[in-house]
Amino acid sequence: MAASAGFGFVVEHRYASEFPELAVEWAAATPPEPRLLVLNAPLAEQLGLDAEALATPEGVSTLVGANVPSGTVPVAQAYAGHQFGGYSPRLGDGRALLLAELIGPDGVRRDLHLKGSGRTPFARGGDGKAAVGPMLREYVISEAMHALGIPTTRSLAVIATGEMVRRETPLPGAVLARVAASHLRVGTFQYAAATGEPELVRRLADHAIERHHPAAADAPNRYLGLLEAVCDAQADLIARWLLVGFVHGVMNTDNTTISGETIDYGPCAFMDRYDAGTVFSSIDQGGRYAYGNQVRIGQWNLARLAETLLPLIDDDTDRAVEAATAVLQAYAERSSAAWLDGMRAKLGLTPADDDQEFVERTLALLQRERVDFTSFFRSLSSVLRGDDSPAAAWSPDPTAFTDWVSEWRTRVSGDPVTVAASIDAVNPVYIPRNHLVEAALTAASEQGDLAPLHALLDAVQQPFTERPGLERYASAATDAWPYVTYCGT
Ligand code: AMP
Ligand code: MG
Repeated sequence: MAASAGFGFVVEHRYASEFPELAVEWAAATPPEPRLLVLNAPLAEQLGLDAEALATPEGVSTLVGANVPSGTVPVAQAYAGHQFGGYSPRLGDGRALLLAELIGPDGVRRDLHLKGSGRTPFARGGDGKAAVGPMLREYVISEAMHALGIPTTRSLAVIATGEMVRRETPLPGAVLARVAASHLRVGTFQYAAATGEPELVRRLADHAIERHHPAAADAPNRYLGLLEAVCDAQADLIARWLLVGFVHGVMNTDNTTISGETIDYGPCAFMDRYDAGTVFSSIDQGGRYAYGNQVRIGQWNLARLAETLLPLIDDDTDRAVEAATAVLQAYAERSSAAWLDGMRAKLGLTPADDDQEFVERTLALLQRERVDFTSFFRSLSSVLRGDDSPAAAWSPDPTAFTDWVSEWRTRVSGDPVTVAASIDAVNPVYIPRNHLVEAALTAASEQGDLAPLHALLDAVQQPFTERPGLERYASAATDAWPYVTYCGT
């Protein structure tokens, strides 16, 4: 099953061979004129791939799935999912393929996956394609998330296909090569459960335990242990999104991983001004996936996973439901604790019983004064170092934060310079700001100019290290344009 593909990597296809019920062998479309736009050399190296070889025409052909290395069995993965609360029994990779599982020099198994690689049997009405802009967007934001220390799928390369794809206007097409701990989703379990084959769900659960949550195998009830491990991973993940102002935007169950990695960067974006109701996606009219709803939606999604595992957890449905409910309850508590710990770190607080109340008051003040979330937290270190000028810029009203700053100072103990350094290590100075992301994608997509993209990547790949000359990457947009992102990209 293992093979070396000629680029220095070992490939396997365990998912494809163990789950024929959940995979369709499929070939990628061959792009007319593939051209490498961006390649993630450090990631390639981590995977044991030869970046130089990947940049050759043969390498690019492999990256788009046109050249199929020996030992690989590309498949479209089947999954179901609740999209905006409505159940679709058959989603699956409509424009994507699992190309191979790579075993890196670190011994870790990772999926190499393509997006935009042509129609598959799951394409329904879609064209199976992707455009340059959205694929570069996934590249930038996923790499920024990784640099922020947030579990995420990674982006290995974006390749222009040389053909136009039809959206509202014709756009240049692209394929994204991405890497993930796996592409097992809540929706994969939903699809397996819907086949009515309990043994399939059991095999899938065993596979997920072995691959992602091996400690669950030692739990008194391994399937409850799996649910618990996924809930823990998602609780921590979503808390971390909140701590950097990230809005996923399309938290459907098919976009919720079993590994606990962030996946599928569609209409996602980072919030500028703090507002718990922030929604970027044009189709999210009801605000289901708003910034402040994400923990709750995570729990809803995990409840869908729990439903698929109930028959494995206990033969007695009542007992199974009771056990799963307790785990889902613990998710909410864990997520809230992770968030509070993270907020304490962002504010440099010496832990006190009423921290939660203080943090909530702080956020209410940010919301009322329409303060830029990222700049606010980052500038706190300057205040601790004795420079009050950033605080004066938080609000047009110079007195709005006077009382808050006095109170905050009483809650920070220890050497201020040491605390300043510790909070700088968790409050990013550079995030992929919406106006800069848009400018970089427009330049790449419309003018073929990749310089703004690379400059943005340089900034966000070291988000905590302030560097001279990068001021524009640290500043909020001056005009408060309503930022809207579009699905179906
Ligand atoms: P997403 O919103 O990217 O998570 O995708 C939701 C579902 O729609 C998945 O089953 C995708 O494979 C499918 N899909 C999205 N865009 C396309 C497209 N252009 N062609 C075919 N399927 C698509
Ligand atoms: Mg998806």
